[in-house]
Amino acid sequence: MSNKNKIRILPLGGLGEIGKNMTVIEVGEDLAIVDAGVMFPEDDMPGVDLVIPDITYLIENANRVKGIFLTHGHEDHIGGVPYVLRQLNVPVYGTKLTLGLLRVKLIEHGLERSTELREVKAGERLQVGNIDVEFIHVNHSIADVVAMAFHTSLGAIVYCSDFKFDQTPYDGKVADLHTFASLGKKGVLCLLSDSTNAERPGYTASERSVGETFRSLFSKAEGRILVATFASNVHRVQQIFDAAAREGRKVSVTGRSMIRVVEVASELGYLNIPEGILVDLDKMDKLPREQSVIITTGSQGEPMAALSRMAMAEHNRISIAPGDTVIISASPIPGNEKAVGRIINQLFKEGANVVYEPHLGIHTSGHAQQEELKLLMNLCKPRYFIPIHGEHRMLLKHAELAEATGVAKENIVIGEIGLPVEFTSEGVHVRERVVSGQVFVDGLGVGDVGNIVLRDRRQLSTDGIMIVVVTMSKQEGKVVAGPDVVSRGFVYVRESEGLMDEARQKAKEALDACIAQNNVEWGSLKSAVRDSLNRFLWEKTKRRPMILPIIMEI
Ligand SMILES: [Zn+2]
Ligand SMILES: [Zn+2]
Repeated sequence: MSNKNKIRILPLGGLGEIGKNMTVIEVGEDLAIVDAGVMFPEDDMPGVDLVIPDITYLIENANRVKGIFLTHGHEDHIGGVPYVLRQLNVPVYGTKLTLGLLRVKLIEHGLERSTELREVKAGERLQVGNIDVEFIHVNHSIADVVAMAFHTSLGAIVYCSDFKFDQTPYDGKVADLHTFASLGKKGVLCLLSDSTNAERPGYTASERSVGETFRSLFSKAEGRILVATFASNVHRVQQIFDAAAREGRKVSVTGRSMIRVVEVASELGYLNIPEGILVDLDKMDKLPREQSVIITTGSQGEPMAALSRMAMAEHNRISIAPGDTVIISASPIPGNEKAVGRIINQLFKEGANVVYEPHLGIHTSGHAQQEELKLLMNLCKPRYFIPIHGEHRMLLKHAELAEATGVAKENIVIGEIGLPVEFTSEGVHVRERVVSGQVFVDGLGVGDVGNIVLRDRRQLSTDGIMIVVVTMSKQEGKVVAGPDVVSRGFVYVRESEGLMDEARQKAKEALDACIAQNNVEWGSLKSAVRDSLNRFLWEKTKRRPMILPIIMEI
């Protein structure tokens, strides 16, 4: 019998980490994927471009998957969709802007034609098999964001990923508090909610307050104004256009993602660019500096982004001049502080007036702080609570808030990627772990780079490589030529000829010893060379280059 009462929540990403959000909601036999994000690689993942969730479980249950349901258009929620679709062709549900941003990705991946995109609106409720889902409008740092309520026989599961409650949002669309309240009245089984800012007391400031700061900064600025912000923050970008228009300045947009978002958002009606204000970057230099504004990417100190290239005087069209004002309208994502600091220093050196301090009101977070998180709990009154979207300590802080609002301690589940949380009329159980984790994307390869490749890359990047080449006659079991040694990234060879000679000698001795014992298996010859050189080089240099023996057979 298909048991519609069997309800499970399975996190596949976004727990114990910030990024690659993905949660599976299972109602009986049917399965909904909520979000499919990417994460940017950590410092110890050299060469990796992106990290996506391991979806083995979804592939194994492919016939049960009803679709991908997207909360909003940020990379940590939609960036992994093309990779999922390559293996699992299911419909994708999302709001207009979310799907608009996704479409650009699908075109890049050649998946646009084969993918079924189904637009949904906040307030709508739809049923796909056992999945009965309602979309609820919330505020965030991008437009058109929804939370979801999955209606089940045991009550609603409210999935409220990235959100804030902005009482004066730029587009006038306040989060739908009424729906949360009425869900709470009917009975919410479980609330899953955004833990990003669970450590921060109070409320997040309204997006509108940033617009006010822009107005006052723009009215005082004398030279050119540059504003760096997140491309996807459509309302932020709009407020920059508004402030520029007030001062009669023209605006240019630079940075690949910024140009793309401005295109998509204005096409879909989320961005309203005043007539004649937008000018090509090429024409910017012909305008007086006091009449120009540039909106750019690079607020996170990304070395290849437009702002960084301008600061380093490497941008081919835009340079910084004394008297320019640069506004960094973002706060650095943890880990990026150093890179951002470097750019700010450089901009000051070029003579710019850099406005970057958080207390100046040039940025506000898109994530709810403690009072808003508690408000959501009080509206929903959930029986169970699972903090999501955060590192472990944030999840714990969020759990404390839940307890403070009256959720029973034993009903709070600190989840883990791969552990299904199952609800029955009797209670909640954490079930057996399913295959899960992370998959690396490097260039065109998805999943081919694993921990072994990464270990090699780390070794190569710290101590270099030594290659030992020897030519042997298999029949006679003897060395015909070599061994020769070549190294890269290990020592400066010209000044280490003695060491290289000795290494060659050590390799030869190791080979000779094997041959003398009649041990001429290629495998054992190679490991003898490797062991001997490892020991020798460590003694001599306290370095451990990768040693790669190559035997050529004649
Ligand atoms: Zn987001
Ligand atoms: Zn997010």
